[in-house]
Amino acid sequence: MKPVTPEASGRIPGRRLLHSPGPTPVPEEVMWAMSRQPMDLGDPRGDQIIAACEVGLRRLLQTEAAEVFLYASNGHGVWEAVVENLLPMGGMALVPGTGHFSESWAVQTEALGRRVLRTPWAEGRPIDLHALAQALRQDTLQEIRAVFVVHTDTSSGVSTDLAALRAAMDATGHPALLVVDVVASLGAAPFGMDALRADVVVGASQKGLMCPPGIGIIAVNAAAMAQARANPAPRY
Ligand SMILES: *Cc1c(COP(=O)(O)O)cnc(C)c1O
Repeated sequence: MKPVTPEASGRIPGRRLLHSPGPTPVPEEVMWAMSRQPMDLGDPRGDQIIAACEVGLRRLLQTEAAEVFLYASNGHGVWEAVVENLLPMGGMALVPGTGHFSESWAVQTEALGRRVLRTPWAEGRPIDLHALAQALRQDTLQEIRAVFVVHTDTSSGVSTDLAALRAAMDATGHPALLVVDVVASLGAAPFGMDALRADVVVGASQKGLMCPPGIGIIAVNAAAMAQARANPAPRY
């Protein structure tokens, strides 16, 4: 077979660099680190690496006390972990519309047997905070257990003003937990879990963090841990 020259293929030679939200290019030293044998299950260095990752993620998420969990999953996997742990069967989440990703999370939540209240969205527009506050105020029975917010909706690139969203939630006095998806924004846009008083934060390895796909990240504060422990939904 004749080798395909760059000219013949019509491509520009050199390293391929696709500017997509993720998976993003993985730095050379990470690529080299992946060429090692996996550790034995009982290797004490495994615990040390995990502990160091948790410390680093706490610093990155700007949280003092949240518990950090690492999952062998993608972003959809940690979305599912949030639904299964925080919401009882038939329980309700409020998902303010940001675009494709808020809608996907809402559909997944419904597929897992929970109810979803949505606020309307328009491509490229920020969250309708008025509709969000209205939905919380109208929920006089406090059926909404959590608000699932996407920080940056990757489909349009629109970022949510999380401080304004927190203030709008606070003004209603509703006790729903605040869950924030920073899958696309973590490491790329400023984010402070404690300052925001977010209860749960979910991320993944392959976007702003420039790691290979396959690690899902969740940080959980004490209030969310308590809600998860009290949740009767079956899970392991
Ligand atoms: C990519 C992405 C997800 C889903 O992550 P996967 O690892 O592709 O399952 C969720 N939320 C946002 C904002 C994303 O950009």
